[in-house]
Amino acid sequence: MRAMQRVHILVLIFLLLMVACTSKVAKSPTLILLNGKIFTAENLTSFNEAVAITGNTITAVGKTAYIRSLAGDSTEIIDLQGKLVIPGFNDSHIHFINGSKGLAEVELTSTQSAEEVEGNIRKYVSKHPDSHWITGRGWQYTFYEGGLPSKKMLDALVPDKPAYIRAYDGHTAWVNSTALELAGINKNYHFTGFGEVVKDATGEPTGILKEDAMSLVSNLIPSKTREENLEALRLGMKLAAQLGITSIQNAHGSVGETELYETLLANNELTLRVGVAFSIDEKTSASDLKNFVQVRDRIGYKNPMLRAGAVKFMIDGVIEGHTAFMLEPYSDPVPKELSATGQVSMPLPRFNSLINTIDSLGFQIYTHAIGDRGVRETLNAYEAAQKQNKRNDTRHRIEHIETINPHDIPRFAQLGVMASMEPIHAEPGTVEIWSKAVGEKRLPYSFAWNDVLKANAKLVFSSDWPACISLNPIRGLHVAVTRRNPQGFPENGWVVNQKITMAEAVYAYTYMGSYSSFEEKTKGKIAPGYLADIVVLSQDLFTINPLDVHKTLVDLTVFNGRVIYQRK
Ligand SMILES: [Zn+2]
Repeated sequence: MRAMQRVHILVLIFLLLMVACTSKVAKSPTLILLNGKIFTAENLTSFNEAVAITGNTITAVGKTAYIRSLAGDSTEIIDLQGKLVIPGFNDSHIHFINGSKGLAEVELTSTQSAEEVEGNIRKYVSKHPDSHWITGRGWQYTFYEGGLPSKKMLDALVPDKPAYIRAYDGHTAWVNSTALELAGINKNYHFTGFGEVVKDATGEPTGILKEDAMSLVSNLIPSKTREENLEALRLGMKLAAQLGITSIQNAHGSVGETELYETLLANNELTLRVGVAFSIDEKTSASDLKNFVQVRDRIGYKNPMLRAGAVKFMIDGVIEGHTAFMLEPYSDPVPKELSATGQVSMPLPRFNSLINTIDSLGFQIYTHAIGDRGVRETLNAYEAAQKQNKRNDTRHRIEHIETINPHDIPRFAQLGVMASMEPIHAEPGTVEIWSKAVGEKRLPYSFAWNDVLKANAKLVFSSDWPACISLNPIRGLHVAVTRRNPQGFPENGWVVNQKITMAEAVYAYTYMGSYSSFEEKTKGKIAPGYLADIVVLSQDLFTINPLDVHKTLVDLTVFNGRVIYQRK
């Protein structure tokens, strides 16, 4: 008996030791970052020195000596040498698959002139002799006299196959004669609906298609295979990691596209946390909505990698194309086919009832509204839905808000509607045509980030990639705090009353993104218990000359506790 008892005691001691050892192993961090300047995003002035990560979670934040004391034998230690650390960027309005596919097309977003556009197209065409179509994106309205290029220019570059090249904002397409012919667009073609087939004085199509008219040609482009799409997303994720982007919220989407993300998730390949929004328009049927609900609920809200709880609407178009819906007429000449105050993408009663239905289905709603009338009508529709359905904390958003009537600014906080805006869209040097169309009187409320914040609205930032000149969040931060471009233009800033502080801008590009997807309790801060998505930057955004912000590089990206990018 005694011998048995001894064995039992020995077994017990052994078991206790095992438990002690495993819990010790579990407690030591897998990765610690020391000697840094960490913007924790707890509030606008919260900084610390070091952070400990265990698995995919931040387990401690504090002084370097304390965090160092937590290290175990297998802890990886990174000395930050004073560098700035911020939460991973959250790009809250992006068209990720389109941008990713574009990485394999003619790339024009980095161009500065019509000559560069021409050069890039020429190069691409000669490098891809087997392509049946030439597609691409990124030219800017300011490159061309009158704001638009012509089919003749494109025919000279692509004479023998169809070409379809979108403007940087994705709202206008530039096509060549072969593409027009394939689509059956000629002198006799009459387009009706949202958008325009632009014609010259003689009635000849010029090669410019606006808004819904773009699909006359885009529908003819052979669609990519599932494997090609997955490959594109992998390319996109690689680029995002280099730019420190660890979360995205798609501002469009379909069931098929959502399944691509589910595949990447199942393969353990996602290096981005993804929120999907389903695209809604006038043609969306009750059975489409049923599908969206089904996919949303199948994915659920428990997995921090993927959710699909939002839908995306458009109420209007863009300022440059005179398709944004305005309270007062545009300040520059509007083509006679278009209304002087812009357009709505669907009749307002239909818009209002759709908003009401979607709200009642429990979705979060994003609505693209660029004109001040578009913004007002969207606020009205959200307000009506709120009264009718009585849902709380819906966090519905309005996207872009490039112009706004001052009377509508306080309504964001009153209704709990989020202002979702892209600082990169306001980069001076790209807004001349925009400014002429908006005019002096409305100009003080252009991209009104400061007024929106002062009115206590929740402001969330993004790129709108590929409908922008750069995916890089640093370029957005540069504009947000300077209202000047990387060359310092214009000297005194463009509508400078709307610039904001670096802390406000970083907050809008990180923590507010997680608030926007209802994940503010699990990501977007560098705090214990939060998911370990962290970016190390090459310079201290908070102390450098604001005009040097654009030179900042990402040195290290940590996603889900793992280093996914390190600058060489
Ligand atoms: Zn967009």
